[in-house]
Amino acid sequence: MKTRWNVKIIIFIGIIFLLSSLIEYKNVLKVYAYPTLKKVQHELILFKTRDYQVRETDHFIIRYDFDDDAVIDLVAKASEEYYHQVCDTFSYYPKEKTVVIVYEDPEKLIKNASLKKGEPPMGVYLASTIQILSPNVWVPKDQDIEHVFMNEGPMVHEFTHLIVDDIAKGNYPLWFTEGMALYQEYIQTGYSWGEGLSFDEKEYTMEQLKYDFENLDQMLAYRMSFEVVKEMVQENGFEKLNHILYELGKGEKIEKYF
Ligand SMILES: [Zn+2]
Repeated sequence: MKTRWNVKIIIFIGIIFLLSSLIEYKNVLKVYAYPTLKKVQHELILFKTRDYQVRETDHFIIRYDFDDDAVIDLVAKASEEYYHQVCDTFSYYPKEKTVVIVYEDPEKLIKNASLKKGEPPMGVYLASTIQILSPNVWVPKDQDIEHVFMNEGPMVHEFTHLIVDDIAKGNYPLWFTEGMALYQEYIQTGYSWGEGLSFDEKEYTMEQLKYDFENLDQMLAYRMSFEVVKEMVQENGFEKLNHILYELGKGEKIEKYF
């Protein structure tokens, strides 16, 4: 009877040990499993859009299901124009062509990108795809569609999410990738998101940004994420941020740096 208890205790200790190492190394496990899971989701998105028309450029595959060559020309132009600028900043060039899906119907974007019902965003990054609304849907008719799409459109922002996700292998909080994307918009197009917003007493803590991002005032949370990244670059240079991304991709915890 005594030996049986010993075995039980050893098994119990073994389970505790296994659980604690799983928690300790969960980031490492995540970065190994993530690319495969992402690939599955990516294939599913391609399947959902299998009947779409395709336009291929040097670095992008654009899928769309409406007839408007001028819009697809513009998406192709913006994608290629910012490709080198953004890739050079990160010294990272995706191995495969990036899939961009353009919708004229916001409902399809919401459905294919698995978004909550409500106001559709201009663009979404999901599983190595950039899914955007046609600028015809959101650029006011009295404005120059090309100028607005090139300078305030979603391409730089969503392409940055793709690069961050690739390098850090999914191991980052939401605030960090949003801050990175807004910072890229700022340096590539000069667009300073939420400029002039005043924080008053509402400046959030890093804990709030990390654990409660989606429940915060979104304008302020995005602006603050942008400010944190911008300050980091001003103090340590972009190289440091790039280094952090690669460390995250090896399973390092972001708390080490922020
Ligand atoms: Zn974003």
